[in-house]
Amino acid sequence: MKIHEYQAKRFLEEYGIPAPAGDVASTPEEALRISEALGGGAVVKAQVHAGGRGRAGGIRLVDSAEEAGRAAADMLGRPLATEQTAGTGVVVRAVLVVERVDVAQEFYLGITMDADQGVPVVMASTEGGVEIEQVAEDAPEKIVRVHGDPLLGLSPYRARDLAYALGSPPPLVRPMADITSRLYRLYTEKDCSLAEINPLVITADERVLALDAKLSFEDDALFRHPELRDLADPTQEDEFELRAGKAGLSYVKLEGGRVGCMVNGAGLAMATMDMTATAGASPANFLDVGGGAGEEQIAEAFRIIVSDPQVSVIFINLFGGILRCDSAARGVAAAAAEIGTRLPVVALLRGTNAEEGRRILADAGLGVQFLDNLSQAPQALTEALREAESQ
Ligand code: GDP
Ligand code: MN
Repeated sequence: MKIHEYQAKRFLEEYGIPAPAGDVASTPEEALRISEALGGGAVVKAQVHAGGRGRAGGIRLVDSAEEAGRAAADMLGRPLATEQTAGTGVVVRAVLVVERVDVAQEFYLGITMDADQGVPVVMASTEGGVEIEQVAEDAPEKIVRVHGDPLLGLSPYRARDLAYALGSPPPLVRPMADITSRLYRLYTEKDCSLAEINPLVITADERVLALDAKLSFEDDALFRHPELRDLADPTQEDEFELRAGKAGLSYVKLEGGRVGCMVNGAGLAMATMDMTATAGASPANFLDVGGGAGEEQIAEAFRIIVSDPQVSVIFINLFGGILRCDSAARGVAAAAAEIGTRLPVVALLRGTNAEEGRRILADAGLGVQFLDNLSQAPQALTEALREAESQ
């Protein structure tokens, strides 16, 4: 679960990590007043669940309170599209107005799970302000990593090592290491999946400050922190991912793909995406309906797939275990009748009640091409895509 920068800043404060003073505003007047209280000059920052705001016009350095009000008026109520948002972007409903500081040097500091080693990894680099994925691609040698220990936490000497490795000026090694330790405590105590300060800066007057903050919480640990759920902002989430979540489906929209995939089981969903790629096509989504999806869940999954205007072919690949192919097919048939879709469908049904499932799908008035095994998928998809193009 993601939260906004202004919310993340409150956690930094709780953990004693220094950051520029400021407050959040939902109207231009509020922004003007906050800026006034800061002495006029300020930074006005669009609050959206995505980074890359700087380059997208979502961060404005202003010299007066009036200018802060105007910057807020420009941003509020309008969508902001950054390289991290999907499609046309997300609407800005709040801006953060903060003290403007003189930056001497920018760093990256982030903590996430190292999936290979199964422990948290602290990453830092001198390439502050740049996304870590970009640094990893362009100059991987500039990323310094130290690991934490699930039981012992992050040893103070490791935090110091990190600060030295970044070439921190000697008087700032202590504060850099201190911020790293505090961020690590925040990361573990709040069950974060990501805790990131980018940039962490050294100011002209030699203070170390968190200029930006990004926190994501591990969804599977939210039951331990029920109060965190109140911080969610559904207006920032993809409409269909939200609907899928409500229906108990695991759905991720993928940009640029044309094959809508309906699969049960994450492993089979991956294999299905690979087969789609083998056909020279891209999947439009990852969708795992789950092991025991019922008729209504399948119907909702079908509606979600079809609602994506990029989808021109549907690939249904279900393995009936607890899931029954006949009830899955009834779900698809019901949703298809309701929507009246004409998209070609490629289907592979196996396992429990597969035969009956095929019969129901064949009678559903959809143009279904049935497969006997997954290796037939690339050719069938290639043909279905050609057919979709000629329609
Ligand atoms: P992001 O682009 O969404 O990650 O937004 P950030 O909060 O990281 O801001 C982007 C960039 O704006 C930072 O990397 C800084 O270079 C710059 N910036 C933000 N606040 C200040 C500030 O108070 N003073 C100065 N000089 N630059 C700032
Ligand atoms: Mn940033």
